[in-house]
Amino acid sequence: MQYYYHDQNNRLVIPNAGVLNPLTRTVRAYDVEIFQGKISALRPTPKEDCYLTPGFINTHVHFTMQGGLKLSEAKNLLQNSPQQALELAISHAKKTLAAGITTVVDKGPPGVLNTINFYNEFSKYDPNKVPTTLYSNYTLSYKGAAFADEYTKMIASASELEETLQTMYANGSKIIKIIPETELEAENQYIWVLPEEFLEQISNFASKHKMLTAMHGKGSKAIDMAIKYKINHVEHALQASDAQLKELQSNKTSIDITLEGFARRLQAAKLFPTKSLAYHEYEWEQARNLFHRLCSLNQGKAYHYLNFASDAGSHNTPHASLEELTIMKQLGLEAWEVLRAATINGATSLNLQHEIGVIDVHFNADLILWNKNPLEVLDHDPTTLAQHIANVIKNGNPLW
Ligand SMILES: [Zn+2]
Repeated sequence: MQYYYHDQNNRLVIPNAGVLNPLTRTVRAYDVEIFQGKISALRPTPKEDCYLTPGFINTHVHFTMQGGLKLSEAKNLLQNSPQQALELAISHAKKTLAAGITTVVDKGPPGVLNTINFYNEFSKYDPNKVPTTLYSNYTLSYKGAAFADEYTKMIASASELEETLQTMYANGSKIIKIIPETELEAENQYIWVLPEEFLEQISNFASKHKMLTAMHGKGSKAIDMAIKYKINHVEHALQASDAQLKELQSNKTSIDITLEGFARRLQAAKLFPTKSLAYHEYEWEQARNLFHRLCSLNQGKAYHYLNFASDAGSHNTPHASLEELTIMKQLGLEAWEVLRAATINGATSLNLQHEIGVIDVHFNADLILWNKNPLEVLDHDPTTLAQHIANVIKNGNPLW
């Protein structure tokens, strides 16, 4: 069924669209008119034939990675067949857009070779066919940190850091991703290894150049540092206490838990039993516990800056999936709040709240057309959410 037409002025019109607004928690019917990539008019109508939400924003993906079990495969492909790696990344991006995800943050590649060139090439691709992609050209780490050596850009000195940050800025990075701590160690500790002055330098550089900072921060010390240096996105946040969560919230820090990533890694660990099963069980339990606390942090109301962030592309975690949202709903977040996380919260966390994340006049026409109210789907059978997408509109252009 076609839910749109072009009028005599060649404007795209979606008639009788039930527009969902998570801020006001309302569904209102409009004829939605789109011109030159923007929403140009909303005219009230008496009935709904379809539903419309802003396109979703996934703030944690890795288009350079396949979602398979071996990170080394993705790294080898980037190093040895960069053209093939680029084509693969674009195919992930196209599928992601078709799943309703119209903006993403690519949190960096595995390995450091060819990646500046990679993202420059990637960003030349047709912007109507792939999500708007903000990226971190490198993943910054320090000796001893998780994924250090092989998969990240290890920083050894302040001058090297400065040079790397300048390169990232000059090559279009809007976000700086940092891995400052180890993997899970004895007694369930993640050990902080990054010299604090490096974090200070990154934080200063980011604010001077209007870039965002994202920290892989599972341990308690990382959360303290994220609070102190007002990091924009804290990823995972597994050991954050309620008091720390409140401080993060007062800094307007987004939390990108990546529930799907943790669930999928545990699933893989069970299928292919290794010594790491206990490790993945611990992280999933922590993620679930943290999420429960986040859902009711403000006297029963949710943390204000929860994002849709899945870690798509990493170990066993697929691209183009809405499972993060269905897990959020299943773990107790209200459907309206899930929608808010996937739209307004993501936009705000990227400083794009005046362009995307809301359906209103002058906003970008990045939209999902649904054949059913997605909130009802989330309430009754969240796992079928993706099946109710009737179309995706990117920059005012319907995908099909
Ligand atoms: Zn990741």
